Amino acid sequence: MLSFEEEVSPHSIEQRFGHRLSSVDEVTAEEKGTHATLRRVRAEDKCIINGQTDVNQLVPFKYKWAWDKYLAGCANHWMPQEINMSRDIGQWKDPNGLSDDERRLVKRNLGFFVTADSLAANNIVLGTYRHITAPECRQYLLRQAFEEAIHTHAYQYIVESLGLDEGEVFNAYNEIPSIRAKDEFLIPFINTLTNPEFCTGTMEADQTLLKSLIVFACLMEGLFFYVGFTQILALGRQNKMTGAAEQYQYILRDESMHCNFGIDLINQIKLENPRLWTVEFRAEIAGLFKAAVDLEYRYAEDTMPRGVLGLNADMFKGYLRYIANRRCQQIGLDAMFSGEENPFPWMSEMIDLKKEKNFFETRVTEYQTGGALSWD
Ligand code: FE
Repeated sequence: MLSFEEEVSPHSIEQRFGHRLSSVDEVTAEEKGTHATLRRVRAEDKCIINGQTDVNQLVPFKYKWAWDKYLAGCANHWMPQEINMSRDIGQWKDPNGLSDDERRLVKRNLGFFVTADSLAANNIVLGTYRHITAPECRQYLLRQAFEEAIHTHAYQYIVESLGLDEGEVFNAYNEIPSIRAKDEFLIPFINTLTNPEFCTGTMEADQTLLKSLIVFACLMEGLFFYVGFTQILALGRQNKMTGAAEQYQYILRDESMHCNFGIDLINQIKLENPRLWTVEFRAEIAGLFKAAVDLEYRYAEDTMPRGVLGLNADMFKGYLRYIANRRCQQIGLDAMFSGEENPFPWMSEMIDLKKEKNFFETRVTEYQTGGALSWD
C-alpha cells in the first residue's frame, strides 16, 4: 500500500491547501490532520441537489426526516405471499361471486397497476437516484425502490392467484386507451431523468428535475393511484376480494409514505433553491395538475361505465379535485380546483393507518382482527 507521502505529491498538496510546500517532508502530522479535516463531511454542507459532499457518507445526518422515513418504511415491511388469497380465488371462480362490472373493474384496475410500479421503480433507480446528492434521501430511495418491486410482485401475485389472462392484464398498458394515456403523460418525465446526458446544475435542468419530482410524488403516486386504491378497498369493505384488498391496503400505506417523502424532498429543494420557483414554473405545474386530474377522471369513467359497489365515476370528479387541491397546498401552491369534496372519508382513515405498526407482529390494531384486516 502506498504511504501518504507517495500518494500525494507536493504539487497536488499545493493545489489542495493553496500554499507552497518546499518539500514532501513539510507535510507534517498537523498537515495530515488538516487534510483529513478538509475531507470530512459537515452536515451543514449537504444539499439535496448539486451537493459537493461525499454521497457515500450517510452520517452526520442533516435530513433526519428522510432517515426517519427510511426506518418507518423498514418497520412496515411485508411480502405479498404472506396474505391468504384462497377466499378471493373461490369468489373469482364462482359464477355468482362477482358481477360483470365488478370483474371488469378488477381487471382494468390491475391493468394499470401491474406496470405502474415498474415505471415508478425505473424512475427512481435509473433517473431520480443519481441526481439526489443527500445520502439520507438516497437511503430512503433505495428502500422505496424495493417497495415498488414488492408492489409489482403483489399485483402479479393477484393476477396469478385468480388465474387471469396475463397477456391481457400486462398489455393493458399498451392496449387500453385510458391506461395508456396516463402512462404517456408520465413517460416523458422519466425519460428526461434517465437520459445519460441529463445532469443538474443549471436553472433549466434543476427546474426539469423538480418538475419530474412533482409529477411523480403529487400526480403519479399522489393522484393516479387513488381511483384504483378506492375501488379495490371498496370491494374489501363489501367483503369481496378481501385478500386483494389487504394487499392494496399495505400498498396504500407504503405509497402514502412515498408521496409524503416526495413532498418533503420537493419542499427542501425549494427551500435550498428558491430561484427555481418562478411564476412561469408554477403556471406550468398548475397545467400539469389539471391535465392529470382529467386523465384520472377518464380512467374512472372507463373502469366504471356504470355505478358499481356504490361508486360511480361522477363521485370521483369531486374526489380527484379534493386530492389535487391537497397536493397543491402540500407543495406551497394555492388550491386550484373548485367543486371539490371527499365522498370517501373512510379512505382517509385507511391512509392514516398507524404507519409504524407491523401488521404481522401487531395482532390488534384498530383495523385488524386476528391475522386479517377488517373492513367496516
Ligand atoms: Fe411508490
